Amino acid sequence: MHLNPYGEDAVKLAVDLSNQRPATVRELSDRCRAAGLVVDGPVPQADLARTLALLDTWEGVVDAADGRERAELLNQMLAAGASHPRLTDHSDGGWHLHYRDDHQPLAAVLSSLISVGTAFHLVGRGMHRLGRCAVAECTTIYADTTRTGRQRYCSQRCANRDAVRRHRSTRPAAGPVST
Ligand SMILES: [Zn+2]
Ligand SMILES: [Zn+2]
Repeated sequence: MHLNPYGEDAVKLAVDLSNQRPATVRELSDRCRAAGLVVDGPVPQADLARTLALLDTWEGVVDAADGRERAELLNQMLAAGASHPRLTDHSDGGWHLHYRDDHQPLAAVLSSLISVGTAFHLVGRGMHRLGRCAVAECTTIYADTTRTGRQRYCSQRCANRDAVRRHRSTRPAAGPVST
């Protein structure tokens, strides 16, 4: 996976893994591969717990009260998970930047990828473009990559559900009024 200037693939991988936490290390590596990550060799068992802890920390960035708090939390993630950028052309993928040392386990790769990718996403598109669905009982996380940057729901389904509910609540109650 290459980090594009908006970090879109990386932040979407974080959203996907957070919303549906992988249950096994096998599932984790399969889903990372499906997202375009080069995962070579067997993934150590410990990488699952490390990744789940990383996602817990990342959800703190999602739930930050404002841009300043979000930046502070993400800066802590960057300090812990990213190192100086370096040019690499492993696996014939063409030259690109890694923000980590070579030969890291998957959890460390994810730590760098998710922290740097989220930083690119927020500074490129806007600090507010990460959140949870506005439907109260739906806590699904979204990364807003829309043109307008006004996403409030995780999906069209939730947007429709909320529109129907708001419509009902503005209509007077049906049936005879009891006295
Ligand atoms: Zn690479
Ligand atoms: Zn939702």
